[in-house]
Amino acid sequence: MKMGQENGKMDPFEMAVAQLEKAAKIIRLDEQALEILREPMQILQVRIPVKMDDGTTKTFTGFRVHYNNARGPLKGGIRFHPEEKLSTVKALAAWMTWKTAIVDIPLGGGKGGIICDPKKLSPGELERLSRGYVRAVGEFIGPEVDVPAPDVYTTPQIMAWMMDEYEKLTRRSAPGVITGKPLELGGSKGRGDATARGGMYSLREVAKRIGLDLSKATVAVQGFGNAGQFAVKLVREMFNSKVVAISDTKGGIYSKDGFEFDEVLEHKKKTGSVKGYPGAKDISNEDLLELDVDVLIPAAIEEVLTAENADRVKAKIILELANGPTTPEADEIFYRKNIVVIPDFLANAGGVTVSYFEWVQNVSGYYWDEDDVYEKLDKKMSKATKEVFDQSDKLKVDPRMAAYTLSIKRVADAMKLRGYY
Ligand code: NAD
Repeated sequence: MKMGQENGKMDPFEMAVAQLEKAAKIIRLDEQALEILREPMQILQVRIPVKMDDGTTKTFTGFRVHYNNARGPLKGGIRFHPEEKLSTVKALAAWMTWKTAIVDIPLGGGKGGIICDPKKLSPGELERLSRGYVRAVGEFIGPEVDVPAPDVYTTPQIMAWMMDEYEKLTRRSAPGVITGKPLELGGSKGRGDATARGGMYSLREVAKRIGLDLSKATVAVQGFGNAGQFAVKLVREMFNSKVVAISDTKGGIYSKDGFEFDEVLEHKKKTGSVKGYPGAKDISNEDLLELDVDVLIPAAIEEVLTAENADRVKAKIILELANGPTTPEADEIFYRKNIVVIPDFLANAGGVTVSYFEWVQNVSGYYWDEDDVYEKLDKKMSKATKEVFDQSDKLKVDPRMAAYTLSIKRVADAMKLRGYY
């Protein structure tokens, strides 16, 4: 095991910096700009005492990381996770910086988290913890400063409590302080499926580029949560592709005739898993990745496509809705094999793009229809996809590196204009 590795996995922040350095070298980024980008601009660590239902007080640790705001207010989710670490939050904040830059929205990159197990908290405890976090980081966030959002184990309800607490602190209406809110409190239409939908627009553009007819394509989706479920639904609805394999934590299912979203969802609701779907063949999560399909959509967890299995992957396009599903070694193999990877921070940028639309609507006080949201999202995703794949062709680097070079250059240019270096 290498230094900084845990459970055989590379430390996330070390990985983020390694990617940054590699991209910086390709575009010969000024060393002074690189030095600024190697670490977050600010890190806040807080302690949050919470009165528990049994009358005792438990104190939680939380973080908020401001990676870079040269392009605009910081943007990034808040995670509630028992194994949350500062290194993970820093890495995710760096990735948010590149993600907002790649879709060219005027925001920077941040991230937050609380070390806690939300499944072990009552609704009252969860509310007090959420409000406590906002009181602790209150000076660090705001519609023109840093705009958090939901992430792992945080929900629209939690965003609503956080917005309310912030408004109490500042004694003014400030719906733009946080996104991913319920519709009734200023959430945006189209936010629910935005990540998968954005991915679909990107997939459509890449399929066009390589001459793949999506109406005849077969698709495998790993993960059946928010990102995966909408991917299954939308790839069928928008392109009439055939989803032949789906999985969740418990395992996967395969049918050469394809699945219909509503029926699989119904089965999952009844049994707790997609596994055991009538008439389908049960397969493992590992099998799913190696199926002979046109499009593979990892939409579950990180580091599932590795040096070990990459050679056996047969898909033509990999749409990374999950964050970090492909290791750098696997990336090299895919590039060599002409398998087109739509990299995570482009593929799943639809979520943050609609979060940005939510913020725009909040600060302007004017709300859009669903169709407006879809149209604007399509424009952003299509343009970003074209730019990334043009850059990949121009520099002869894989699409992930191409995306990095574009994002880093955009952030560096903003820093240069501000006179940082
Ligand atoms: P989720 O918790 O709603 O769903 C995760 C799904 O993955 C579940 O179906 C779960 O059963 C499955 N899963 C978990 N471990 C697995 C394993 N070992 N093998 C196979 N399946 C497994 O999460 P989500 O919001 O859909 O997020 C999934 C991925 O997409 C994450 O990497 C997340 O960072 C990324 N993402 C999500 C969004 C979003 O808006 N939801 C935005 C950007 C990125």
